[in-house]
Parts: sequence; C-alpha cells; structure tokens
Amino acid sequence: MQAVVYYNPGDIRVEERPEPAPAADNLIVRVRACAICGTDLKLATIGNPRCHPPRIIGHEMVGHIVYSGTEVQGFMVGERITLATTVACGNCPYCASGLGNMCPNAKPISYDFDGAFAPLLAVPPMALAGGNVIKVPDGVPEDAATLSEPLSCAINAQELTGVKAGDRVLIVGGGPLGALHAEVAKVLGAADVMVVQRSEPRLSLLRKLRDVRVIDGAAEDVAAIVKERTEGLGADVVIVCAPSREAQEQAIGQARKGGAISLFASLPKGASDITLDSRIIHYGELRVVGASDSRPEHVTRAVQMMVAGKIDWQRLITHRLPLAEIHNGLRLMQEKQSLKVLIYPGG
Ligand SMILES: [Zn+2]
Ligand SMILES: [Zn+2]
Repeated sequence: MQAVVYYNPGDIRVEERPEPAPAADNLIVRVRACAICGTDLKLATIGNPRCHPPRIIGHEMVGHIVYSGTEVQGFMVGERITLATTVACGNCPYCASGLGNMCPNAKPISYDFDGAFAPLLAVPPMALAGGNVIKVPDGVPEDAATLSEPLSCAINAQELTGVKAGDRVLIVGGGPLGALHAEVAKVLGAADVMVVQRSEPRLSLLRKLRDVRVIDGAAEDVAAIVKERTEGLGADVVIVCAPSREAQEQAIGQARKGGAISLFASLPKGASDITLDSRIIHYGELRVVGASDSRPEHVTRAVQMMVAGKIDWQRLITHRLPLAEIHNGLRLMQEKQSLKVLIYPGG
C-alpha cells in the first residue's frame, strides 16, 4: 500500500509499504481521511527525536474497522472510529492521577506506532487498553471527524484555562489551531471571541468563521481593540497559539485582572526563555497555564461537539488532497496558505 513515511528530519517519502497484519488482539482500520497536523509539518522540516523511523505518520484520522481480532472487545467490523494520539502506559503516577497525556512512557501513534497516512492502519493492543479508540456516530460527516483530535487539544487547553459562558476570549495566532480554539470557545459559551492574525490568506479564511472578530495584527491596534471590546478591562482568557516569544510576553498585558493565559503553542527548544512582568501576574491574580496534547476523554467531547453540530468544520477545512500530494499539503501548511488540510489515502 502507498503510505507517507518519515525517515529523517525533512525527509518524508511516499512509498510502498506492507499492509498491517491482523492479530487476535488488534483492529485493522480502513482510513477514510487524515488531516495534516503541525507535528507532521515539524517532521517534514526540523524532525522530532520522539518519532522512530521509518514510520508511517498521520494521526488526525477517521476510518472504519475492517477487522477485529478475536480477543478484542467492544468493537465491531464496520464501526467508524477516530483516535486519541497519545497512548499512555496506564501504570505510572501520572496515569494513576488521570494525566495520561503527561505519561513519561507514552507511545504516540505516528511516533511509536504506524499512523494514518495510509489506506490501512493497525490499532495496537496498547491503544485499545488505553481507551484511545473513540467511536464516531453515523451523523458525523467523515471530514468533520478528522478534526476530533486537534479539537481535543483545544478542549484540554480551554478546560485547563477555565473558559466559561460569558467570557471574552482573545486568541493570538490564527492558524489551524487558533481557528479550532475559536470554535471551542464559542461552544463553551464565550460572549466574544477575538483572533489575532498577521497575514493573508489566513485572515480571509478566518473572516469566514461565524461570530469571530478577526484582528489584523499587522495593521490594527490589538491592545486598543481588546480594551474597547472589554470595557477597558482586558480579555478573560488569552490563548497564545502563535509560537512566538513576543506573543507570550504580551499576553499577560492583554488579560483582565483575575484572568488567565494559556501558553498553547510551544517555543522552539533552546529559544523558549521569555520575560514576564511578575507584578502584573501578582497584583492581577493572573493564572498562566500550560497545555499539551489531550486525552481520550477530550476526543470524546470533541466528537460530541460534532454530533451536536456545534463546530463549523466546513470552514476549518480549506484543502483536500490525495495521499500522493502530501508534500503539496505540507507546503500549504508551511506557507500558511491553509487552515486544515485533509489527505485521502484512498485517492
Ligand atoms: Zn495533531
Ligand atoms: Zn503512564
């Protein structure tokens, strides 16, 4: 079968790979669609030592079960599923406290197990045991279901940050995750959702989202607009989706007293020192919150949001390509031409 395989940093190949083998304790899934993640782009550029080559990549997937081993319980041939990426060990202190996404022994799909940029994928027993396989009800369109995993990361971050009904939410960085964050904030009842983005065509793509105030960070005065829309107070929650030191440093100045800041995007290793005015945090009782990855429960909540029809997935997916054009899709991401790009392994 044709698959997208990671070899080395910047070395991603479309090549022939053997089909995954059915076993008594696994599932074989026919992949219908798989979205390109920022981590896939990272592999295609600077690489990631956690990914063990040669490895089929891709994890934001939807597919249907074509084989279910005799020892597998709870899944039947024909059912549609998506995956929570990080397969936790289930035995460490973090797993014991419900923080499987912090598990030091975790084995992410597409790093330790072959992923979904291929027509067939084997779900390993460890993923079945970890609850990483989430069923997708019939009412959810296939393309929409590919967004469950990236949505789950936004849900985790907004739950940690405490986004609630009536909040004014400022999202800094309007790439795919910034756009997904905007949708999640609306579902959680935010009264005002503002997204800062600096470049076209993403500005135009974001302006198609409903009930989102898109701020052109290059041409407009972001601080003045946030003040104006919040009676001079600042945002209840600021979510930094831009991998930018400057954006992280400025975020505490954009939150209201008692507000929260989510450092959602990570800065590059070795260039992640930032300077924060701790007096603003201290006197403003601000919370600066990290967020990384997600757990199966968040993917389940993302699927539920899709079932409820609350996510504007049509406008979040901007490009659709066959598997052979993966490099084209990665280029669209790198050049910031797209929001989410979908890959169809079946052509
Ligand atoms: Zn992802
Ligand atoms: Zn663990």
